[in-house]
Amino acid sequence: MKFKKTCIVCGKSFLAANPLYCLCSNDCRAKRKTVYKKRYEKTHAEARREQRRKRNEKYREQHKNKYHCKTCGTVLPNGCQKYCLDCLLRAYQSEELRPWAKDVLHSRGYDETMIDSEIAERESR
Ligand SMILES: [Zn+2]
Ligand SMILES: [Zn+2]
Repeated sequence: MKFKKTCIVCGKSFLAANPLYCLCSNDCRAKRKTVYKKRYEKTHAEARREQRRKRNEKYREQHKNKYHCKTCGTVLPNGCQKYCLDCLLRAYQSEELRPWAKDVLHSRGYDETMIDSEIAERESR
């Protein structure tokens, strides 16, 4: 008994000995295999990429949490900083720490006017 089937690779009709067959020739079988392989590799690569992305995210999360202001413990947005702006401005207002705070603030791009306005803004809150 033969079954009339359509090859899923080339679309040709063929007679199959088994109704489960869906490929007409060895050629098409080989082609089918490469398609599967490619598809597998593609999903595999995507899964790996996703895994890597998740790991990066986790790493960033852990990394981010490491940076807290040394004075008040606030999480800092920038990993290179050691103190938050609030603490620096507070230090700037104290006689003793002012030169140091001024240096740090300057290195962050704040000039006197900006520092004064930041302080004023905080006082008005
Ligand atoms: Zn075929
Ligand atoms: Zn702080």
